[in-house]
Amino acid sequence: MKDVNTPILTVQGLQKYFPVGSFGIRRRYLRAVEDVSFSLYPGKVTALVGESGSGKTTVARVLARIYEPTAGKISLNGQDARSISQRAYRRRVQMIFQDPFSSLNPANSVEYTLSRPLLAHGHATFRSVRQHLPNLLQRVSLTPAEQFMKKHPHELSGGQRQRVAIARALAVKPEILLADEPVSMLDVSIRLDILNLMTQLKEEEKLAILFITHDIASARYFAEETLVMYAGQMVEGGSSEEVTQQPKHPYTQLLLSAAPDPDRLADPSAEIPVLPARGEIPSLVHPPSGCRFHPRCPIATQVCKEQFPQRTELENGHWVHCHNYKR
Ligand code: SF4
Repeated sequence: MKDVNTPILTVQGLQKYFPVGSFGIRRRYLRAVEDVSFSLYPGKVTALVGESGSGKTTVARVLARIYEPTAGKISLNGQDARSISQRAYRRRVQMIFQDPFSSLNPANSVEYTLSRPLLAHGHATFRSVRQHLPNLLQRVSLTPAEQFMKKHPHELSGGQRQRVAIARALAVKPEILLADEPVSMLDVSIRLDILNLMTQLKEEEKLAILFITHDIASARYFAEETLVMYAGQMVEGGSSEEVTQQPKHPYTQLLLSAAPDPDRLADPSAEIPVLPARGEIPSLVHPPSGCRFHPRCPIATQVCKEQFPQRTELENGHWVHCHNYKR
């Protein structure tokens, strides 16, 4: 039985820099992720929200061990991830990508795509592997299974392809799913189906899910916790209800004012100042000093240009990095 109150994956002070330009003593770096810390829990969805270029996908890729971190520590069930082999780590931490069409090999049938991880991780033998596939397809609501086994990605709809990608991730019996914008390339009509499927997997199988999204409104409905990233840094976090209904950071307020939510508009207690959307995410090769949001922030003061704000703990686990937030 999984303990839902004990973190399964903990990230502390994660940093990821990418070298850019030529080699030499003046080599420059793109500072994609700075000092990111959070935990994932069994049976809980944590949303990582931000605009394109905020560093959220880089965080997911570091957690999937596609990229090596520049600094920081990742612990899986209390064990330093560096002491776990890639193979053993990936069996427990699986990633679902944004584009199901490019994440599936067009030459391979569904049967082949799902058989490979089962065989590679010893969950089936060549003799028994076909018996496992109907159950796997059933878990992602692709039924009757026989109808899908022989199909190739181009013969499936976008939603069906993403279900196959999720089934492939589930085949290795992971404890954590890293879902990188899993519905953003799907038709609006099937987005909810995929989110409902992941909710079901979270509840029934107690999977810990990191949900990467640019859509803060979907985070409110799908995730228990929401973390907001801007230009590689965490700026606000807490329960999704608190962060989306009582946002404290001007960047979170900006995201919310660009994503109207009917419930929030009808709720007189919700405090969402409407901020003018100005500017865009800065270069991460030469990021702004102090708070990286200051060139876009309508309430920036001199101190914002000089110092990155410390984390301020608010009520109910809500926190924010801002010099001028209003309680
Ligand atoms: Fe704006 Fe300053 Fe707060 Fe940054 S620290 S969000 S610049 S007020």
